[in-house]
Amino acid sequence: MSSDIQTKFDFIKANTSKINEVDFENLTFGNVFTDYMLVCDFKNGAWEKPVIKPYEPFTLDPSAKVFHYGQAIFEGMKAYKDENDDVWMFRPYENFSRFNKSAVRLCMPEVPEYVFIDGLKELINLEKSWVKKGKGNSLYIRPFMIAIGSGVIAQPSTQYRFCVILSPAKSYYSGDVKVLIADYYSRAANGGIGAAKAAGNYSGQFYPTKLANEQGFQQVIWTDDATHTKLEEAGTMNVFFRINDTLYTAPTSDRILDGVTRKSLIDLAKREGIAVEVRSVLVDELVEAAKNGSLKEIFGAGTAAVVSPISGFQYKDEYIELPKIENSFSAHLKEKMTNIQYKIEEDTFGWTV
Ligand code: PMP
Repeated sequence: MSSDIQTKFDFIKANTSKINEVDFENLTFGNVFTDYMLVCDFKNGAWEKPVIKPYEPFTLDPSAKVFHYGQAIFEGMKAYKDENDDVWMFRPYENFSRFNKSAVRLCMPEVPEYVFIDGLKELINLEKSWVKKGKGNSLYIRPFMIAIGSGVIAQPSTQYRFCVILSPAKSYYSGDVKVLIADYYSRAANGGIGAAKAAGNYSGQFYPTKLANEQGFQQVIWTDDATHTKLEEAGTMNVFFRINDTLYTAPTSDRILDGVTRKSLIDLAKREGIAVEVRSVLVDELVEAAKNGSLKEIFGAGTAAVVSPISGFQYKDEYIELPKIENSFSAHLKEKMTNIQYKIEEDTFGWTV
């Protein structure tokens, strides 16, 4: 560690490394973690000194507020290794800013930049050997914050823990993704917490997604809660629709997570000369476009897979399969985006850190 950082972070060395026990060719997503984690507690109205220490379980009081009132937020981001063995994060300031927006919405303290950004840099630098080279390999980064203060009274906690754990990841192939368009359940509502990356947004989706899985769909595409007529986003991805040669994606709102991949794809598509319109697409419009042949592609956009092509959708009783397409926008944009992430092409946007 650099001496400057040693003054900002405490460091507890691990006795051994697990790295030689890991089969990097056969990783399942999100199950293997690196040797170290970053932990920083908030107590008495202030952030304590962050510590980088061996990955290990926490001990919490059973009455800790996270267990009862769900004050829990997280981020999901990735780092990639280039051919010169340098490791790059992709737009970490976007995740930092979104994390603090989530914190405010869940009545939690904002995390200072030196803890989040410098902490990530130090932690990833220490764990560089866990990031493998080659397109598809990455290091998944999971910053999160939980309420650790005790007491079963429904009030915001006064004590919090910010933590970052790292998980090596292989390229993610989602397979054939068929989606169910929601016509009853909702993920988020106006004035709610849908735009925050709050744990409760995910637990609330598990049951309707399980029902969709039982019907043979991998994901749900959520619609607006008031009318179920506007297409919003999928469980962990924003969604793009290509009608003729224009890409459409819903505007962000209280109900939609402001995805880093979504905003990057919008800029990238424009640079590539692809027309993009940020506006709500109606379910009826999608069905009609599918029937008259103008609907060419639907794809999800998120950190995990960059883009996930969707092969068909069900709305109420009707299933519509999309035609197979050559030279898809999704494949082109994925190629361009990953070229930036792995430093194969020049990063003219200044996204890599
Ligand atoms: N929507 C939701 C609900 C998500 O969980 C995610 C994943 N973070 C996304 C969209 C995509 O966001 P990003 O591109 O920042 O990963």
